Amino acid sequence: MKDSNCIFCKIAEGQIPSAKVYEDDNMLVFKDIEPKAKVHLLAIGKDHFKLLSEMDEERSRLLSYMLEKIPAIAAENGCKNGFRLVINQGEDAGQTVFHLHVHILGGEPLPW
Ligand code: AMP
Ligand code: ZN
Repeated sequence: MKDSNCIFCKIAEGQIPSAKVYEDDNMLVFKDIEPKAKVHLLAIGKDHFKLLSEMDEERSRLLSYMLEKIPAIAAENGCKNGFRLVINQGEDAGQTVFHLHVHILGGEPLPW
């Protein structure tokens, strides 16, 4: 399901350009436009849902698929020594885009 007002749905559909590093039928990985580390990628599922708290069986299959793919994608894109994954949920975490996404951070030693 897509949300026509959602910037990440538009990126997934190619209506807004992005620096894609990986795409398949289920997911897309692209460079964050305001990187917070030397390597900062965003992994999104092609199905739209807003929050980790909206997870159900089908969505958790998608997230699990993404988590399985991410280590190789991260290694191929400059995170050979490791990486950190972040999912922001809601206001206190500073979530700004309400389409579930996994931040992939690395390419250098990361401050905690
Ligand atoms: P969050 O705070 O977890 O909602 O993160 C949203 C992230 O999306 C931020 O790190 C933004 O820099 C990034 N972002 C927003 N718009 C774009 C875009 N058009 N292309 C790439 N990254 C984006
Ligand atoms: Zn969306």
